[in-house]
Amino acid sequence: MILRDIINHLESIAPPHLQEFYDNSGLIFGNLDQSIGGALISLDCTEAVVDEAIELGYNLIISHHPIVFSGIKQFDPSNYVHRVVVKAIKNDIAIYAIHTNLDNVLDHGVNQKIAEKIGLIDCEILKPKTPENKTIGSGILGSLSEPMAPKKFLAHIKQAMLLATIKHTALINKKISMVAVCGGSGSFLLADAISARADIFITSDYKYHEFFDANGKIIIADIGHYESEYFTIELLFKLLKEKFPKFAARCTKVVTNPINYY
Ligand SMILES: [Zn+2]
Repeated sequence: MILRDIINHLESIAPPHLQEFYDNSGLIFGNLDQSIGGALISLDCTEAVVDEAIELGYNLIISHHPIVFSGIKQFDPSNYVHRVVVKAIKNDIAIYAIHTNLDNVLDHGVNQKIAEKIGLIDCEILKPKTPENKTIGSGILGSLSEPMAPKKFLAHIKQAMLLATIKHTALINKKISMVAVCGGSGSFLLADAISARADIFITSDYKYHEFFDANGKIIIADIGHYESEYFTIELLFKLLKEKFPKFAARCTKVVTNPINYY
């Protein structure tokens, strides 16, 4: 497999121009013409993930989050980002990130995968980038075929998304039917979730004061950043395997979540 073919396929689903201005999706290290023996897929490109790729003899890491966001002037071994990049370069392992461009597409995007896990139907983008194209934008809105009591629904997502815990606002005494979802940090979409009449907003990275914004109008459920995007690994794996069935691709076995629960 040539790296260019792998990237072209992924970018036919999530074009790079759909990434947010602050993002650094794309090829971070590597040569488009290089031959790829195997790809390791992860949410984060950590040193342990690079070690795993070395052990497997793979020379490509595809991660959701870019390891490099801004310019690096000196490579400092005490900095974990720098260590990861240096190790990858020394071992000739290409690093590719597919981040907010994969967040911003409806079809085969991060949020559609979450919606699929939860069992949402009739999904659409929660906040489209433009009124003309409702398949590009932030978050997803979908409904449950069978409305569920809030507690039952929390138990359901806990099981479906493999969650250790859910931080949530006061439960509203009404069955959950409309569900808004945003993988990763989604608090900027709360007003859209409320105006779309969602009963619950599932996302992560909520701050204490932001929880008050639920204001009795919606339930905010913070399921954790890593947990919310965990199935993106499976999504990328399937996208590669469907197109290139014989290509060696694997999902990382490393739990890259920096947060532990006690
Ligand atoms: Zn994320």
